[in-house]
Amino acid sequence: MSALAMPRDSQPEVQEGALQAWIDLLTVLGSLRSDEPMARHTTLAVGGPARWLFRPRDLDALIEAWQAKPSDACVIPLGRGSNMLVPDAGLDALVVDLSELNTLAIDGGMVVAGAGVRMSRFARQCAEHGLSGCEFMATVPGDIGGGVAMNAGCFAQQVSDTLQFVELLLADGELVKVEAEGLAMGYRHTQLPAGALVVRAGFALSADHPDQIRERMRAMRSRRTATQPLAQPNCGSVFKNPDGDHAARLIEAAGLKGFAIGGAQVSEQHANFIVNTGEASSRDVFDLIVRMRAEVLQRFGVALEPEVRLVGEWQFDFSDEGESDDAR
Ligand SMILES: Cc1cc2nc3c(=O)[nH]c(=O)nc-3n(C[C@H](O)[C@H](O)[C@H](O)COP(=O)(O)OP(=O)(O)OC[C@H]3O[C@@H](n4cnc5c(N)ncnc54)[C@H](O)[C@@H]3O)c2cc1C
Repeated sequence: MSALAMPRDSQPEVQEGALQAWIDLLTVLGSLRSDEPMARHTTLAVGGPARWLFRPRDLDALIEAWQAKPSDACVIPLGRGSNMLVPDAGLDALVVDLSELNTLAIDGGMVVAGAGVRMSRFARQCAEHGLSGCEFMATVPGDIGGGVAMNAGCFAQQVSDTLQFVELLLADGELVKVEAEGLAMGYRHTQLPAGALVVRAGFALSADHPDQIRERMRAMRSRRTATQPLAQPNCGSVFKNPDGDHAARLIEAAGLKGFAIGGAQVSEQHANFIVNTGEASSRDVFDLIVRMRAEVLQRFGVALEPEVRLVGEWQFDFSDEGESDDAR
């Protein structure tokens, strides 16, 4: 039974009416598609249909939608889908695409961006204004909202280095401003309140010459092009690096470079990348993740932690204790 369609505390017919009224409202507040294939919205190009995909036209529309949202509605935020694995069966949920929240304002060293601003655009604008600290964003294919949610980073920089505050839309429709210190950010980790959407983020950057900033961005891009399989669909690093080591080194040492399950293959170029060679299913990718982790655990005693987010319903066991988790 659908979590979206059937709040626990309602009579079915009352609830169906409330849900339909909300869905009708969403069509006025932005674009709404049903049964939208998530393979179109993830960089791995896999994943079945989302029951609904809602793209609010702006922040006011999103707030209005959230204030009217049935309390049990299951919602999954989407940035550019560059760090997501969606099941082949799809998502029995409303996926909210924040790409229209794309305002960017620069005032001195403070840059405030909507969740839907692409990190590459953010980096370019900062360079133009002689603002340094987020050069790495030029090379990460996600949005500001996804970048904050993941605490994205590379080349010795990460979002939390410069993030000052976020504006969050809470599950009940309240908009709050939270200082970055309140988010317990760590390596690829941000503690957001359950069901909260990052809608805007403010960064404090330091002054530097635009040419030097651009030069650093160029060097990062070319290093990435030389070492990563960017021509094939992928989701970036599959696993976080364990303390004092590299997931890619361990996976390669386990002999898995080039190993494939169905259409999902451990990249020949970078062992911590899985590429979709054309016809991969989500199940292929998932099974390969499980296999990579099991081989590394067996050979080196290191339990790798996935960096890619498994959204929707998955039965998996990535804990050392052998517990089974259900991701959402
Ligand atoms: C080629 C390639 C290279 C990459 N290199 C790097 C790298 O160097 N460093 C790095 O850190 N990552 C890297 N990534 C992974 C990915 O780009 C980052 O994790 C990025 O921050 C994800 O942003 P997104 O907008 O695509 O988020 P999505 O993949 O859409 O979402 C990721 C997670 O964040 C949640 N989320 C998204 N938006 C919001 C929001 N507004 N509010 C609350 N939750 C939200 C989603 O529900 C999901 O759980 C790479 C990916 C690819 C494909």
